[in-house]
Amino acid sequence: MICNNLGINAVGHLTFAGRDTVELAKTYGTPAYFVDEEKIREKCRIYKAAMKESFGGASHPLFASKSLCFKRLYEIMKEEGMGVDIVSSGELYTAVAAGFPLEEAYFHGNNKTDEDIRFAMDHHMGHFVCDNMEELEAIDAEAGKRGIVQKILLRLAPGIDPHTQQKINTGRVDSKFGVGIETGQAEAAVGVVLQKKNIALCGYHCHIGSQIFEYEPFCDAAVIMLKFAAQMKEKYGYEAAEINLGGGMGVRYIEGHPEIDYAENIRGIGALVAKTCAELGIRMPTILMEPGRSIVADAGLTLYTVGGTKVIPGFKNYASIDGGMPDNPRYTLYESPYTVILANRATEEADFNCTIAGRCCESGDLIQENVNIPKPVRGDILAVLTTGAYNYSMASNYNRIPRPPVIMLAKDREYVGVRRESFADLILNDM
Ligand SMILES: *Cc1c(COP(=O)(O)O)cnc(C)c1O
Repeated sequence: MICNNLGINAVGHLTFAGRDTVELAKTYGTPAYFVDEEKIREKCRIYKAAMKESFGGASHPLFASKSLCFKRLYEIMKEEGMGVDIVSSGELYTAVAAGFPLEEAYFHGNNKTDEDIRFAMDHHMGHFVCDNMEELEAIDAEAGKRGIVQKILLRLAPGIDPHTQQKINTGRVDSKFGVGIETGQAEAAVGVVLQKKNIALCGYHCHIGSQIFEYEPFCDAAVIMLKFAAQMKEKYGYEAAEINLGGGMGVRYIEGHPEIDYAENIRGIGALVAKTCAELGIRMPTILMEPGRSIVADAGLTLYTVGGTKVIPGFKNYASIDGGMPDNPRYTLYESPYTVILANRATEEADFNCTIAGRCCESGDLIQENVNIPKPVRGDILAVLTTGAYNYSMASNYNRIPRPPVIMLAKDREYVGVRRESFADLILNDM
């Protein structure tokens, strides 16, 4: 199995977080998301401990809440002593509703509106991660009106091109995010920020992309960021207190993916950061990281009910499920690989090659192509593994399909994190 929270029990059913998935489907209905709370906590602790060991006491991870966002998640992050990164006023609102202290939050995004900036300052947002010069002016002006000094990090485009899907590649010089180092714009921006009376520059941020398996791109990014910090010290006499290296570490979705030792990666980056700081003659900054996917992805699983199969002799086969792109748009968006298991017949021979199709009126509504499962019959339970990240948070109501619930599986209790949407919910905003 691709993760240690999965197994097969004596009656041949897939188990997840110690539960029989067929029983879970019976209890909560399908489609439904299930979240292994202990796995999330374990990942938070791995990041926290490794970062503290590698970068010193003040360094810590921020959970990238766009990967899985609802109130209970912020409570868990608070309990685990994680910071959070948020990218919209809606995420901010959710964090506030959950009682998450926003001094520990970082506000991202390449286009924060004036309303976003005001809303965040109303709630005493700890840091803005400032993306561009217009935004810098807007933050300075609003902070001035309020008589406060707003802490910011400046988002840089380090000019790194890791091998990942283009749509989740975010650190290249031609990215929509951040100010470029190699174009000289980052250096100019620092000069401007340092003149601002209502802004305190705490340091720099980068985020090079997502689902990155190699470890070198993170090392390259760290070195580029530190070199930039050393140049700014020389040019302006300004020494960055914080460097935020973003998120992006990969997750094992299929057997062919490597298993990543996150602690080992962090320790490696830590050694490199220490060595580079010494060579450059700068103080080691507080290092922040922003894992999203690697905290929650393998803590999630989605269960569906199979409606039927379509066999097209000489062409291909389909198995249709009672969910699809509205609850998991990632195959449609990125052709993301997933492991698929027929949960109630997990030990039977997987000799039916098929495409898993969703129920939307859209040929592209597929969850996965070319997978092997036992030939399903109507009523079988299909599990899609590793759906904790960017599934619920990317869900839509396309075809007016209600969003599935999120069921939390903790050590000694199960509870509803997000209830299933009703038809009444669907027309709530219709006038
Ligand atoms: C999406 C994002 C992350 C998290 O990326 P993962 O690949 O989920 O770890 C972190 N920081 C920023 C700025 C992001 O946009």
